[in-house]
Amino acid sequence: MKILISDSFDPSLPGKLAQFGEVFDDKARLGEAEVILIRSKTKANRDLIDQAPHLKVIIRGGVGLDNVDREYAQSRGILVFNTPEASSVAVAELAFALLIALPNRVVEGHTSMAEGKWLKKELKRTELLGKTLGLIGCGRIGREVAARAAAFGMKVLAYDVVPVAYPAITQVDGLEALVAEADYLSLHTPLTPSTRGLVNAELIAKMKRGVKIVNTARAAVIVEDDLRAALESGQVGGYATDVWPSDPPDPGYPLLHAPNVIMTPHIGASTSENLLRIGEQIVQILSQQNL
Ligand code: NAD
Repeated sequence: MKILISDSFDPSLPGKLAQFGEVFDDKARLGEAEVILIRSKTKANRDLIDQAPHLKVIIRGGVGLDNVDREYAQSRGILVFNTPEASSVAVAELAFALLIALPNRVVEGHTSMAEGKWLKKELKRTELLGKTLGLIGCGRIGREVAARAAAFGMKVLAYDVVPVAYPAITQVDGLEALVAEADYLSLHTPLTPSTRGLVNAELIAKMKRGVKIVNTARAAVIVEDDLRAALESGQVGGYATDVWPSDPPDPGYPLLHAPNVIMTPHIGASTSENLLRIGEQIVQILSQQNL
């Protein structure tokens, strides 16, 4: 089996995959690959698939499959897998780190001190205790965030299109009802036609004034111009994001320079523990294929 590792994985992965055949990371050899391993950077679109006549399996190390043209792959008889269980804790811990960083003004504190300022009086904080967290989408990652929020004494509500049965979470019937009650919102849906642009001006107008939003899901779930206007008016009090329309974002992306935004460069899945788990799941997937 010829395996192309197209994005960055744990350095131990090539050694673990050697049992299955030849492993290489030279993208110029795409035409030889029978298996391609990708994370976020490589887009397994029609163009890439057409350049890989021997391709039998695409494995996306991670959760979202929005960078894979699954329909086209299927039409060519190519199997598509992801590693959905591996990343939940890694992403949930980052979402929670962002959730804590917003009201504690961690980034402003750090940046102002690095600039030689002492904003002890100016940097007023608020607490998570007793506040309401609204989860938009409540699958594997949402549930991990809920467990952490409950430990901090937050009330946790969730909106999802499927039933959510999990201790500490109260499921709310509609998205508008959820956002009307939430002091914090955390996004955990995949990017699909039904979630693209879900957080737009109309929904933002129904949120509590000053609500803080954390996005570790996908950038396009939010309408960036609407959110920027809301951050400028104070309707949204803070936005913390790990996700971008492209990695890295275009320098003109409106939320890069909006007020009260804190940012990380799409590192939700990038814990060393998670990269090891992803590698283990890839080995498991390949062991089950009869190629
Ligand atoms: P999951 O499939 O376990 O959960 C997603 C939930 O969203 C499901 O319960 C689903 O019913 C719900 N949902 C789908 N459409 C909806 C809609 N229109 N309205 C409300 N809910 C809806 O997935 P997960 O493992 O929790 O991952 C969620 C997303 O997180 C991924 O799809 C991916 O986009 C993102 N993610 C980001 C990173 C990162 O690095 N920041 C890493 C991994 C995953």
